Amino acid sequence: MPESLFLIKIHQPADMKNIVTLITMVLLVLHAAAQPKKKKVVFIIADGIPADVLEKAKVSFPRQIGREEGYKHAYVGGERSGYSQTPTISAVGYNSLLTGTWVNKHNVWDNDIKEPNYHYPTIFQLVKKADSSKKIAVFSTWLDNRTKLVGESLPQTGNIKVDYHADGLELDTMNYPHDNASLYIHNIDEKVTDEAEKCIREQAPDLTWLYLEYTDDMGHRFGDSPEQKEAVKYVDKQVGRIWSALQYRQQQFKEDWLIIITTDHGRDSISGKGHGGQSERERTTWIVTNAKDLNHYWRDYTPAIVDIMPTIARFLDIKIPRDYQLEIDGVPLIGKLSVANPVVKVENSKLDIRWKSFDKEGTVKIWLATTNNFKTGGKDEYKLLAEVPAGQQSAAFGISSYPSSFYKIVLEGSSNTVNRWVILK
Ligand SMILES: [Zn+2]
Repeated sequence: MPESLFLIKIHQPADMKNIVTLITMVLLVLHAAAQPKKKKVVFIIADGIPADVLEKAKVSFPRQIGREEGYKHAYVGGERSGYSQTPTISAVGYNSLLTGTWVNKHNVWDNDIKEPNYHYPTIFQLVKKADSSKKIAVFSTWLDNRTKLVGESLPQTGNIKVDYHADGLELDTMNYPHDNASLYIHNIDEKVTDEAEKCIREQAPDLTWLYLEYTDDMGHRFGDSPEQKEAVKYVDKQVGRIWSALQYRQQQFKEDWLIIITTDHGRDSISGKGHGGQSERERTTWIVTNAKDLNHYWRDYTPAIVDIMPTIARFLDIKIPRDYQLEIDGVPLIGKLSVANPVVKVENSKLDIRWKSFDKEGTVKIWLATTNNFKTGGKDEYKLLAEVPAGQQSAAFGISSYPSSFYKIVLEGSSNTVNRWVILK
């Protein structure tokens, strides 16, 4: 009798063991093939690179990672002159990314990070709350990102634990002596990138934040300059290293990785040294992503930094608690979308609401609250004003029966919600 995989002569008990091992292996392979790929996310903030500077530097990562469709101009700063106007300052921008809200909610007004409102949770908190076995990682040239914004070990964040990190090296003046040219910051960027790359290759955290600072230092020091351009070229190489770690993971493991690279603000248009204001160049940023199912909102409109958090949450299939869902200022850049770009005005006791519909078939529920208890950890009671065909893209209501100087309006479609405040003087 010829021996084959399917016909094995059993001579002794040891052979029986081998057969069992073989069957177990086949079953394991079949089981693994039937499992969906594990989803993982890395986002990178490279500080203070205006969109025009990135483009003039002719770096390779926007095209290499973003292909044709995955590179867009974006914005920071909230609504100019509106209630959500947000300073174009570093930590303010990072926290808009982390929480998906503008400064009127997350309350980080500058780099002092005095009183973040932790009632607006970061994406790290949402990931951990959804599944405490998920691993999160922060690699950063600035310690405060982990200790204050993510808020590791703070009671206000439920003592969130960051599973992997490398940061605080700016305080290590032995190994990174502070030189006048800020080269030590470049060296720290290199180190945290190395650590992020190694961690991704070996541990594959579910959510990783890499923060790089040197570009902003060169911007402050030299403005629009060859030095700044050179700093952007360093970012190109650093991003390239993370990208190759992702390729490695995707080839060797059953994993699907989303990467998003962005900046926290542009710079002034006179010298390029400053930022913080609301000029077009300070507000104009960019986003690069390898995301596959980018939606029409991404393609046809200008995305904002607050859109990144809901995009990550959707990619990771995280169910955001409804109360918080109603507070998020951004919309997902991938997958189905119902509504975006809401505009709400009150005139003569009439509420005038407009929106952009991406799902003409469905309906939009219009909710109203006159309280803002969420801000202090409480609950807002929403009243359903109406449910209207989404394609209508506008609605008006008399509000004399809801006397208030504050209105919170939520538009709820089947795929997402958007919200606006009205503050009457
Ligand atoms: Zn910055």
